[in-house]
Amino acid sequence: MLIDTHVHVGRVWDTYEPMTPKIMLDWMDAHEIDMAVPLPLESPESASYYIPTGDMLALCAEHPDRFIAFCVVDPRMSVARGRESFRSIIGSYVDQGAVGFGEVKVGIPMADPRLQAIYEACDDLRLPLVFHIDNVRCTDTPTLDGLEAMLRAYPNVKFIGHAPGFWSAISADVTKEDMGGYPNRPVVPGGRLDALFSAYDNLYADLSAGSANTALTRDWEFGQGFLERNHQRLMFATDYLHPAQEVPQFDMFAAADLSADARAAIGSGNARRLLGV
Ligand SMILES: [Zn+2]
Repeated sequence: MLIDTHVHVGRVWDTYEPMTPKIMLDWMDAHEIDMAVPLPLESPESASYYIPTGDMLALCAEHPDRFIAFCVVDPRMSVARGRESFRSIIGSYVDQGAVGFGEVKVGIPMADPRLQAIYEACDDLRLPLVFHIDNVRCTDTPTLDGLEAMLRAYPNVKFIGHAPGFWSAISADVTKEDMGGYPNRPVVPGGRLDALFSAYDNLYADLSAGSANTALTRDWEFGQGFLERNHQRLMFATDYLHPAQEVPQFDMFAAADLSADARAAIGSGNARRLLGV
């Protein structure tokens, strides 16, 4: 039994068919996924279309046994009242059932003061937060110095890493170019991800998308060790978002040589603990 902490319901890209609730639920049944988190997208850099928080809250309220609600706000909204507005908007989403924030996929730096106003509200509200780093969205240095500063500044936020700019830091030889792609050369041990996981207990990651799958399989021996030693911070996830999508995470996770503890924690235990389900 699995929890998938990163999917999308609605229309994300103009090049793909939209994901309907029915297609998502049937796919979850077919893959023994108990519950999933349909993440809203509300920044212009996120996708081709908006997936509003309100739609996702309504979907989760309709299927409380299958879907777990997250909310999102673009930090460039509410310019007049800033921080105060974010605290009140996000607080009202929490009252409507949201247990996390994201997907943060905004075309400004990871440590931008505008995003920090959001992290501050999430810190107050004790909300975990999913973020997407690449060379356009939530930008950072290859060694993730912006992320590290945020992990330190907002200790009550569980930061859940995702996307190429995060996962390419699995290898010590990461370059700026890697952050926007899917490097598949063997991993050079001593990468920033292992260092950040051991230094900050508020760092998590989801296994979603080609980025996580490539990072973990580009050097499978290393990838399995990474899953085992960081198993208390990793959560099974796919980023399933259109009906014809191939999802490599099922085979990858099944093939990994893991302890029973690690398999249970990554498959659903960590998500249950973090999201209170
Ligand atoms: Zn996503």
